[in-house]
Amino acid sequence: MKKLVVLTVICQWSLIGFSQSEEDAMKYAETITRDDLYDKISILASDALEGRETGERGQKMAAAFISDHFRRQGLEPPVKNGATYSYYQPVPLYSAVPGEIYLTVGDERFENFDKVAYYGTFNTKGKQEIEAVFVGKGSEDELSKVNVENKAAIIMVDNPRGWRAPHQLAKENGALLSLIITHGTDDEFAGYSQMLKGYLSGGRLSLEKPENKNADRGLFMISPSVAARIVNSKVEDLKKAVENGNPKKIKKGKFTYNLEQKRIDVSSENVLGYLEGSDLKDELIVLTAHYDHIGRDGDKINNGADDDASGTSAIMEIAEAFVKAKQDGKGPRRSILFMAVTGEEKGLLGSAHYTSNPVFPLENTVVNLNIDMIGRIDAQHKDNQNYVYLVGSDRLSSELHEISEKVNATYTKFELDYTYNDEDHPDRIYYRSDHWNFAKNNIPIIFYFNGVHDDYHQPTDTIDKIEFDLLTRRSKLVYYTAWVLANRNDRLVVDKLQDQNIGNN
Ligand SMILES: [Zn+2]
Repeated sequence: MKKLVVLTVICQWSLIGFSQSEEDAMKYAETITRDDLYDKISILASDALEGRETGERGQKMAAAFISDHFRRQGLEPPVKNGATYSYYQPVPLYSAVPGEIYLTVGDERFENFDKVAYYGTFNTKGKQEIEAVFVGKGSEDELSKVNVENKAAIIMVDNPRGWRAPHQLAKENGALLSLIITHGTDDEFAGYSQMLKGYLSGGRLSLEKPENKNADRGLFMISPSVAARIVNSKVEDLKKAVENGNPKKIKKGKFTYNLEQKRIDVSSENVLGYLEGSDLKDELIVLTAHYDHIGRDGDKINNGADDDASGTSAIMEIAEAFVKAKQDGKGPRRSILFMAVTGEEKGLLGSAHYTSNPVFPLENTVVNLNIDMIGRIDAQHKDNQNYVYLVGSDRLSSELHEISEKVNATYTKFELDYTYNDEDHPDRIYYRSDHWNFAKNNIPIIFYFNGVHDDYHQPTDTIDKIEFDLLTRRSKLVYYTAWVLANRNDRLVVDKLQDQNIGNN
């Protein structure tokens, strides 16, 4: 019975003018099902995986689950590891956690995250003495009147967020360190210092080792009384000098400081599954979704069902569809790399590592289709749920945009929303997920996204809120687009180049 039904459907397709390849594409699309997607998200976003924090146990469990799926499907492990091949591409990460950090004036010692708070990753390797100069608000005019070279510039700012510009100026004038007075009283500073402790004491993962010799010394946020103590003055007098525009009235001072960072090494991994193409196998299509997430907040687990178990389950299902097609002799002409990426949440680290250490030459990489969050509906589309946001499709290749539009018109019929593709959109989504590391290498990309919602990066991003029918159809859109890109005669034409300077901020 079942077979007969399939045959009838195929005949109807033929009648309305689908080619053999289009019929094949539709046949294998049927292997992407809501039940399979549900099964995968129920594991990836379960409490057992503890929010898949980069480098932690839950992320490793997710990696094992994804690589096991790739192996069962029959994808090849493409990463050379000695004499064998692995599904894992190791991504070494580093973090600097503040160690012994303090500042002393005379015989008084001020500890980090008390009356002073250090912001930076420098190691002084022992305490150092330095001269300090009060430069008022740190304006160009004020800095032009005093010599801050190799000294610490003490700057009084109007509000705690106003430190960047004067700190930068002081550095340009040769200052080694800035001491920023962020608040009018020590009591106000105490609260701020505790908040900074929350932000800064855990360290931050990076691909770079913290011992970078050219690193900036950074800055201290300090309470007003510590500033006054350093220049042997009174808080009132500092304020008056700023008001009257004569910071030079304040005498120079001296202090010693110690900066120590503890290096923490974290190991993580991208998970790669490879499906070899036929006559155009040297050319590669890369499908990505990040599988790490932000871990837990105390006893609350950030399950990340939408972000990005939805995209990860989608590429696992798309892989299965292409494998089945290949088993029936309908495999893709170009090769396809399915990559579950780590470290996205920490700054696109896994994809940056891949594009700096590509397993397949970037010159042969034709396109990257990247998925991050496709299981939900945002507030803008409450009444019109047949949508998905696309970002980047026209940035490097006009042809890619045309193909993507045509694929959708043929198979999935979504309303493609390009709101976030606007170059002036404040959210800058084009630079904010893993596709950017491909785009900056002039590889055309499409990013698939459902927009933001209140559960974004919250413990409430859970599986019960996923719209599985929508997720299934969106997964099929990515699959069909990959199918066409993998099977067409000509490689995509790149007719625009990426400005390398954009996006690096
Ligand atoms: Zn994400």
